[in-house]
Amino acid sequence: MSGVPFQLPTISTDADVRRAFARDASGLEMTADAIARPTTIDEVAELLREATANRTHVTPAGAQSSTTGASIVDHGLLLSLRNLSRIHEVNTDTRTIRVGAGAIVADVRRAAEAVGLLFTPDPTSEEESTVGGAIACNASGARSLRYGATGPHVRALTVLLANGDTLALRRPALEKNTVGYPVAHDPVEWFVGSEGTLGVVVEAEFALYTLPSQLLGLIVPFAHEADALAFVVAARRSTVVHPRCLEFFDQGAMDIARKAEGSSSWATGATAMVYVEETGAVEAHDAELPLDEWLALAEAHHAMAEDIRVYDSPASQHEARRMRHAVPATMNERGAARRSFGGRKVSTDWAVPYPRLAAALQVARRLADDAGIPRGIAYGHAGNGHPHQNFIAQDADQLRQIEQVVYATLREVIAMGGTVAAEHGIGKLKSRWLPLQASDAQQRVMRALKREFDPYGLLAPGNVLG
Ligand SMILES: Cc1cc2nc3c(=O)[nH]c(=O)nc-3n(C[C@H](O)[C@H](O)[C@H](O)COP(=O)(O)OP(=O)(O)OC[C@H]3O[C@@H](n4cnc5c(N)ncnc54)[C@H](O)[C@@H]3O)c2cc1C
Repeated sequence: MSGVPFQLPTISTDADVRRAFARDASGLEMTADAIARPTTIDEVAELLREATANRTHVTPAGAQSSTTGASIVDHGLLLSLRNLSRIHEVNTDTRTIRVGAGAIVADVRRAAEAVGLLFTPDPTSEEESTVGGAIACNASGARSLRYGATGPHVRALTVLLANGDTLALRRPALEKNTVGYPVAHDPVEWFVGSEGTLGVVVEAEFALYTLPSQLLGLIVPFAHEADALAFVVAARRSTVVHPRCLEFFDQGAMDIARKAEGSSSWATGATAMVYVEETGAVEAHDAELPLDEWLALAEAHHAMAEDIRVYDSPASQHEARRMRHAVPATMNERGAARRSFGGRKVSTDWAVPYPRLAAALQVARRLADDAGIPRGIAYGHAGNGHPHQNFIAQDADQLRQIEQVVYATLREVIAMGGTVAAEHGIGKLKSRWLPLQASDAQQRVMRALKREFDPYGLLAPGNVLG
């Protein structure tokens, strides 16, 4: 099934083009036999029909920001959806927006904001990822603490199956339904998070919401990490403050963030910090935001009060988010610098129920210490119990050691009621961990869905099911 035994004007086998699509953010490199860059849905359908007729593997790709090798492949056709990037006008009556799969997430957000509406999916990579990728990975971000991941906001999808057939799917507007198995109630759900293995998303309609009228950002440094994590738990349980995001930085992540902002001397005694965004209670839009209550909560958890920063203007809030983004971006650069030595960044994406995060981090670091490897850094969505513990493997030997430690950590995470991958999907790099989390019966249901939509197993080989 390797090779691409048919030609179409949208397909290139040029070596430079193939190389240009050979990397994503996983640190892996895989070169497909050919790259397809269709500009219309009809061209995608034609290509899939040919691929099925010729039993050729097809791997859909958006902007290739996957951290799990999901959007690269070492054979067959890589299908780039980037050119399907149309953003239709916002429908302000229905509060929806229809977009092509290749539209960049942040561009969709800006289109909604231009008419005073909120587009909720917010992966940190929003400037370099597509909505098709966000749907296929069920991407989430800092604000998912309040709004949830991408999936719930998808109202309708146009999906092409492996054989080129079109499915136009709309979420049922029903509030109650007892007909048949719940797994079949809402076909949109089948494709959210399917990582390119069940169908090719070509268009989507998203729900939009009222933009919050006010936003307050805070960065709260702590001398002791345990206090920072207790602050996060208290903020989630509070009825007085209403965080829409609670992002944690351990010391290593904090150092990167401070350097990116050019303020390395700020809060020098801190070992952790928490970034907070507050937009007020959903039901009380114009009420004053509870700054004093946040400061009191921080003080009650022994924050370094003098060093707390308040971000109350859009420009300063943009700066704060840039600091946050600097952490994964810097780690990606560090990982890339070790590629020629057989090393790379190893990013974890596990999550536990949020009150258990402090315990899970302790276990993860103990396992690293026991193996004699650096602990890496940990940062991210503490409000969801979801940090990214990232390591830089200096060479191939250390890579093997780190992977063993990660495996041991994931077993502990599962025992704590967690997940091995909360937002990046499992792609190729992490598909071997599927059995840690999904029972045999759950895996059989997934394989049955795969057989139903892609009977020849042509789409995204190696992703999810291995
Ligand atoms: C610096 C950085 C920060 C990140 N931060 C976050 C974060 O905060 N939250 C988060 O969730 N992720 C994050 N990611 C991971 C990644 O950006 C997301 O998973 C993103 O949604 C992938 O979108 P993409 O367009 O790059 O998709 P790709 O990487 O191109 O593809 C990802 C998967 O989606 C499939 N796919 C893509 N388009 C389609 C389509 N149209 N139809 C069917 N399948 C398709 C591919 O086959 C593949 O399986 C980050 C990555 C980086 C590098």
